[in-house]
Amino acid sequence: MIHDARTCREIDSTTDREERHTPAFDQPRIEAAVREILHAIGEDPDREGLMDTPQRVARAYGEMFGGLDESPAAHLARQFPQEGSDPVMVTDIPFTSMCEHHLLPFTGVAHIAYQPQHGRVVGLSKLARTVQILARRPQQQERLTQQIRAAIEEHLDPAGVLVMLEATHSCMQIRGAKAHGAAMKTRSVGGRWERDAATRREIQEMMVGK
Ligand SMILES: [Zn+2]
Repeated sequence: MIHDARTCREIDSTTDREERHTPAFDQPRIEAAVREILHAIGEDPDREGLMDTPQRVARAYGEMFGGLDESPAAHLARQFPQEGSDPVMVTDIPFTSMCEHHLLPFTGVAHIAYQPQHGRVVGLSKLARTVQILARRPQQQERLTQQIRAAIEEHLDPAGVLVMLEATHSCMQIRGAKAHGAAMKTRSVGGRWERDAATRREIQEMMVGK
């Protein structure tokens, strides 16, 4: 099946592995690949300390890329009625993701705010699940931020939505510029808040607790 590139990217953004028709997680294949890397860096994969490493790495990858097997849809579909249209905000949702450029982790927190307009909201834990499912995939922080915003828009159709991510990247800290402690902040805004600078600023100030 040939997908239009644009459609493909859209499908890619929030759907799971099954819907994207990509192969299942292959633990033995990862183990073999890690063994190969150990060889390639000039190590002996059979020495005692490294013997179980391929298996451990494969298990860790299973966890860190487990979001490829899940979709936020099931979580965000579980909505409940709530009167009023005051913004809902949840801050400091912890996440760990994997930078797709270096396969090194980046960790941080997500802040989410949205303004319901159909009298329906989701539980706070569902927002946390959404962040974690989308984070546990090969990612770029900018795209992760956009995908969280898109998933909320798709399922809740809020009047406004704002997602902010603050994270530190191992790839920045241990290689290249070695920028220890440097945090990267990304933001994605949707709906009415895109045009309403005053509300956006107010929400953002609340988010970062200033
Ligand atoms: Zn990186």
